[in-house]
Amino acid sequence: MVKIHRSYTVDEAARALGVAKGTIRRWLTSAKLSAVEGLRPALILGSEIACFLDKRQKPKQVCALQECYCLTCRAPREPAGGMADIILHANGGGNLRALCAVCSGIMHKRVSGTAIPALQAILDVAIQQALPRIGK
Ligand SMILES: [Zn+2]
Repeated sequence: MVKIHRSYTVDEAARALGVAKGTIRRWLTSAKLSAVEGLRPALILGSEIACFLDKRQKPKQVCALQECYCLTCRAPREPAGGMADIILHANGGGNLRALCAVCSGIMHKRVSGTAIPALQAILDVAIQQALPRIGK
């Protein structure tokens, strides 16, 4: 675990991260990681290392239009069989519901009204009207 309030030499950083010293040096020379300027030997701030690790470990997971974020897989997934239901809301948007192509779990996603024609072009979409509220 890297402590953000201390600084690390290349050797210490390598040990803290469980990588080779050469790996740390490579990250430094490729400017992926920056050391404190003007110091020799290089000293790396813990906060810098923590930030670097954070960026590496969490690649942005952006769902493509037809993909939904599957809570079971913890990743964006394509709908199984290219099929999805969209339950339309009165405001023109809708709720897309599909099965995960990988784990068959149910995935949900809000879609805007403008995205629906594009989705229909990619997926086999069954449009359903939201049930009118009872007592209205
Ligand atoms: Zn899944």
